[in-house]
Amino acid sequence: MAKKQFKAESKRLLELMINSIYSQREVFLRELISNASDAMDKMYYRSLTDDNLTFNQEDYYIKVIPNKEERTLQVIDTGIGMTKEELETNLGTIAKSGSFAFKNDTELKDGHDIIGQFGVGFYAAFMVADKVTVISKSVDSDQAYQWESTGTDGYTIIPVDKEHVGTEIILKIKENTDEDSFDAFLDEYQLQEIIKKYSDFIRYPIKMDITKSKPKDDESEEYVDYVEEETINSMVPIWKKNKSELTEEDYINFYQEKRYGFDKPLKSMHINVDGTVRYNAILFIPENAPFDYYSQEFEKGLELYSNGVLIMNKCADLLPDYFSFVKGMVDSEDLSLNISREMLQHDRQLKVIAKNITKKIKTQLLHLLRDDREKYETFYHAFGRQLKFGVYNDFGANKDTLQDLLMFYSSKEKKLVTLDEYVQRMPEDQAYIYYAAGESIDRIEKLPQTEMVADKGYEILYFTEEVDEFAIKMLRDYKEKEFKSVSSGDLGLEDESNDEVDEKSQEENKALFAAMKEHLGDKIKDVRASKRLKSHPVCLTADGDISLEMEKVLNAMPN
Ligand code: ADP
Ligand code: MG
Repeated sequence: MAKKQFKAESKRLLELMINSIYSQREVFLRELISNASDAMDKMYYRSLTDDNLTFNQEDYYIKVIPNKEERTLQVIDTGIGMTKEELETNLGTIAKSGSFAFKNDTELKDGHDIIGQFGVGFYAAFMVADKVTVISKSVDSDQAYQWESTGTDGYTIIPVDKEHVGTEIILKIKENTDEDSFDAFLDEYQLQEIIKKYSDFIRYPIKMDITKSKPKDDESEEYVDYVEEETINSMVPIWKKNKSELTEEDYINFYQEKRYGFDKPLKSMHINVDGTVRYNAILFIPENAPFDYYSQEFEKGLELYSNGVLIMNKCADLLPDYFSFVKGMVDSEDLSLNISREMLQHDRQLKVIAKNITKKIKTQLLHLLRDDREKYETFYHAFGRQLKFGVYNDFGANKDTLQDLLMFYSSKEKKLVTLDEYVQRMPEDQAYIYYAAGESIDRIEKLPQTEMVADKGYEILYFTEEVDEFAIKMLRDYKEKEFKSVSSGDLGLEDESNDEVDEKSQEENKALFAAMKEHLGDKIKDVRASKRLKSHPVCLTADGDISLEMEKVLNAMPN
């Protein structure tokens, strides 16, 4: 029988696609399973309007059968099947999506459950197979047909026998090459892993015959192999379940199953939004920062699902940098995906979701701060630095989001306090929020510069991280109180006017100061007599905006 050629630019397109659209070839299985799921959904929709059809849930399943000897992988479904014409048009024309047409034709509002829409997913099979055979019997036809293709050189269609309505796809898995092994796609265990990874939440059971072993009999030490059919996917995604059905334990299990981290999450959030953009999300605040968190290697992002199918492992656009520590997933029916399902065509919906999520994370963190201080401090020890970077990096643009989440060590409380707590406690005559920067709390306590402010009975925030002061410069103020370094020239204290320069001592020590200045050269700008000091003979102060600590950091930066 003469081979029919793929329509249009199919040949070139196919080659292009196979090599470039999908970043990982294991996704071929996701595509075939999604198609099978779509085909069964179509039966369901058909049954709603066709009185001759009843839809028995248990008759609908997907079966995956590897065969190592034959190097084949079979994917079988009991969906709506394809007629000869449909095999031609749907599989013979790339970018022809029967599912998309179905969605557009159908009056059913629920049609958005159907996953396919671009008409290229099927061809992903050619990333791992050098021959693909599709045997299908349509619900609308008594005759079954077999479509077969070795990829770029067209396809054949012949009539065949098949008893039940549905589709069976047989992939002839590629031979291994020196660089490349395709054996994973024939391996029971690895196939299960791929199914769980990408298709865990497909609403129909995905079954496999799993080889197991058991003792031959009660007394025997000898084991025998046997085969048992198992459903590999969990089918109902936890995020679609009712919050009231779930316990904290369930979320922790999910966190660990998903390997979001090896720790236990400090807090989990379950979000169901039914607004203009519908989505479900499960998010976690981890307890510990991953080892690479504060390095270039760290990649932020949430898993992104479109209607139960994993599209992206790490969708960075869903999280602002300052909340990059959040782990979890988002599932939405409203995403407009591009052909590979891996990139998003329009990111409007994504932006709406991201904004929404950011707000919720902030609210949850504030609740944690209010309700469980200890946990919040654990969180803050792990990720507080990232919040401060967040304030600094966007030139204070995230001030409103972040300022209430910040904490600093307090000279008075001897523990971390929030800016709000600081301001609440301020005596009426105190005009500024004072801070002192240094390497450690110990060191700061010994700074002569803190003496004046502490003597007034004012609280001082200790900045021990390099980013602290930079972040505070971006905030400028909190609740209209400006920040002031204890080492700034002008402390803004009422009785400072007579502190400025002690004229008498200045006059008396003129010669000494001149000698000091000469000795220190351009390391300093001036030497002055001051009333600021009590128990220390000398201290350094800074003129202008840049404090001594900041100067140190700036000088240490590579140019
Ligand atoms: P998409 O799923 O984006 O529409 P695909 O390339 O994955 O594109 O599939 C092309 C079309 O082939 C589908 O729209 C569907 O009409 C048909 N098809 C593929 N697999 C099956 C199947 N298992 N059962 C029925 N129809 C299928
Ligand atoms: Mg598809």
